[in-house]
Amino acid sequence: MATILIVEDETEMAQGLRDTFEFDGHEIHIASDGQSGLEMALSKSFDLIILDVMLPEKSGFDVCKELRKKGDKTPVIMLTARQQEIDKVRGLEIGADDYITKPFSVRELLARVKAVLRRYPETEAGPIKSAKIGELEIDFENYKAKNATAKVELSYKEFEILKFLYQHKNEVISRDELLNKVWGYEIYPTSRTVDNFIAKIRKKVEKDPASPAHILTIYGIGYKLLE
Ligand code: CA
Repeated sequence: MATILIVEDETEMAQGLRDTFEFDGHEIHIASDGQSGLEMALSKSFDLIILDVMLPEKSGFDVCKELRKKGDKTPVIMLTARQQEIDKVRGLEIGADDYITKPFSVRELLARVKAVLRRYPETEAGPIKSAKIGELEIDFENYKAKNATAKVELSYKEFEILKFLYQHKNEVISRDELLNKVWGYEIYPTSRTVDNFIAKIRKKVEKDPASPAHILTIYGIGYKLLE
């Protein structure tokens, strides 16, 4: 999943965060002061940085500002304890993507992290702009699709599902992964919801939706997209 840097000086908090994220399948690196956090952030590529405000050596605000000044665009979620700190993060001049106030629930934190990660494309080549899956040509930038003969109407969620599957074409994607990536924590759909969406998408992508050639069902797990 994601490679996450946690910059937090309180050992217990850092360990708790590590356990939470590792349980969720992420790779975790920890720095325990602002200066080493900044150095780690600049020396390795992370998908996300969780940055405490109150840190020895260098504050979380300064770490975030310096990262942005150096052109590092890694998403940052700040951990704040006081209203003053929240106001400063909200002011945006430090360049953080989101903040969360201590104490927070694990569920809340994971939801924020997923939301921030979803805003950023996972592929190194940058965001996927278009794709051709079977006969269907998809323009992800303008949310348009067509086949050889006509325009094809896709809903926003259908575009998002196709985009995620296309980013991971030839890989098996579980229903849970699709739920997390496309729906996040906005609502609480079931894996049945995913199946219903896939059925609708197949009608637009497949020549014979009853025996799909492009969006395959991987029994007991999820789906796999083939171009
Ligand atoms: Ca601290």
